[in-house]
Amino acid sequence: MNNVYPSTHPLIAHKITRLRDYQTEPKKFRELVRELAALLAYEATADLMVRPVKVQTPLAEADGFDLQERIGLVPILRAGLGMVEGVWELMPSAEVWHIGLYRDEKTLKPVSYYNRLPIEPTVSVCLILDPMLATGGSAVATVDILKKWGVRKIKFLGLIASPEGIEVLHSAHPDVPIHIAAIDQGLNEHAYILPGLGDAGDRQFGTG
Ligand code: URA
Repeated sequence: MNNVYPSTHPLIAHKITRLRDYQTEPKKFRELVRELAALLAYEATADLMVRPVKVQTPLAEADGFDLQERIGLVPILRAGLGMVEGVWELMPSAEVWHIGLYRDEKTLKPVSYYNRLPIEPTVSVCLILDPMLATGGSAVATVDILKKWGVRKIKFLGLIASPEGIEVLHSAHPDVPIHIAAIDQGLNEHAYILPGLGDAGDRQFGTG
């Protein structure tokens, strides 16, 4: 599918396998989420715009580049929190804007409970961070929020997606690239991804 980028990197495949294992304890789980997020961000940011700059080495002047775009990291609470640190280490000047959405258990639709975005956009590129692209509802709602805020360049970074989630996000926002570590079989009756990894929030925070 156009604009969907499942990673083929062996390091990502290895780490996602360790992440799925039910025996992986929260400390290791968080470490893997952080590392996977950084690896995905590396792949997802290959087209960031740069501007030429000069830099003085100890020996001579060299041509170099600075990042030109202001980047916002947008973790969807709470599971997206664990992805922030790995990406932030790669681009420490990025701003972090949290979006809180929970899934109504009856309707399975996202409900917004936290959004402190200022009126004017402060960034030109947003990387949405959410480990699980399940029904796609939260991802679509977050892109809606960011587009309304005025951001035009938005990318979704996730660890595991269902085909249904990809379809929903891609149909609603075909302009948003989806960078994902793995695409699984589908959803169960509770909208959990199979085989997936269980609840990404609970597994990070030890609340399962
Ligand atoms: N959220 C999770 O944490 N896991 C799933 O499988 C689906 C949504």
